[in-house]
Amino acid sequence: MEYRRLGNTNIQVSALGFGCMRLPEYEQDGKWYIDEEKAIPMLRRAYELGVNYFDTAYYYCHSNSESTVGKALKPFRDKVMISTKIPVSEINSTEEFWKYLNESLKRLDTDYIDFYHLWALNQNTFRNKVLKYNLIEEAMKAKAEGKIRHLSFSFHDKPEVIKEIIDTGKVFDSMLVQYNLLDRSNEEMIDYAHEKGLGVIIMGPVGGGRLAAPTNLGEKLTGEKQSTYELALKFVISNPSVTCALSGMENVEVLEKNVMIVNEFEELSPSELQKIKDSLEELKKFSELYCTGCNYCSDCPQNIKISKIFQLFTYYNVYDLKEYARKSYQEYLKNEKNGQVSDCVACGLCESVCPQKLEVIEELRKVDQILTN
Ligand code: SF4
Ligand code: SF4
Repeated sequence: MEYRRLGNTNIQVSALGFGCMRLPEYEQDGKWYIDEEKAIPMLRRAYELGVNYFDTAYYYCHSNSESTVGKALKPFRDKVMISTKIPVSEINSTEEFWKYLNESLKRLDTDYIDFYHLWALNQNTFRNKVLKYNLIEEAMKAKAEGKIRHLSFSFHDKPEVIKEIIDTGKVFDSMLVQYNLLDRSNEEMIDYAHEKGLGVIIMGPVGGGRLAAPTNLGEKLTGEKQSTYELALKFVISNPSVTCALSGMENVEVLEKNVMIVNEFEELSPSELQKIKDSLEELKKFSELYCTGCNYCSDCPQNIKISKIFQLFTYYNVYDLKEYARKSYQEYLKNEKNGQVSDCVACGLCESVCPQKLEVIEELRKVDQILTN
């Protein structure tokens, strides 16, 4: 297993981390439980194989993940890093910081959390929760008391907001963001964080499973016989600004496969990386429908999530993830909050704001037909 120094700390973290949000679960009498007979040996196997970074959160696995992770890692607690997250969006007072922290410590059955994340920050929660309720100051007190060792944040918003958060001051030791072959929007900010001395932990390195689907994308991008899944993981950990890629491993087979990829991994050279990036751009450019996902059209009065639908078409058409795209579209249609293409009243609002000058109304109809066939 390869270990990397995490930002400006002296901690060595395994290049593969365990994302504990998909531990095996079962339902009984309307209540969810983690199948600990499977989950605990799997987490311990990960440790044996060299994984030393375990990432959970207050609400993962119906709020049961933390206690299973704590139980599994107890025998070698001082050899591993435990990361967990506080649900910032639910906080309505400074005191609540302590309620969540103490509850997480109790569930994890530990005296300290190695990396305590302000969970899923965006500009709104950063300004109206973190700054408003002085959560950074409270975290610094918790650090002084030894209850947390490092403060971190996870993030879901426009990349430029990352800069605003990091520039708050030297308070964060690491950040957790989305990054993969299909979504490189945070790439520049990943470099920025690295330059500023933060460790960078990546979630979704295989696109939340999208890149695990059978596809010839790997071959398309490299011109060689190459598994897309393997390429996706290699792509993320070859980025010199990345410390660790988290994988939400559901069973020992996936764990062992990931460990093997990381162990046998030969870093992609800067020119190989560049070739892949160029190919991705080329693939996108040759897409029939070049929607940049800017979301300027998000005010559709019929609630049609235009960029989402076009993104699925890109997966279908450009990345060859046909099965995934069709399935995701079915899920989109099932969600009552989403407008259906047949609801479009042709008001033209979307077309009037689209910087790509797309014929949105017509394209939506075409895509709907393709994805439902
Ligand atoms: S034309 Fe259709 S898709 Fe576009 S904004 Fe109007 S209702 Fe929405
Ligand atoms: S405005 Fe145009 S380019 Fe932007 S998300 Fe909507 S359809 Fe795509």
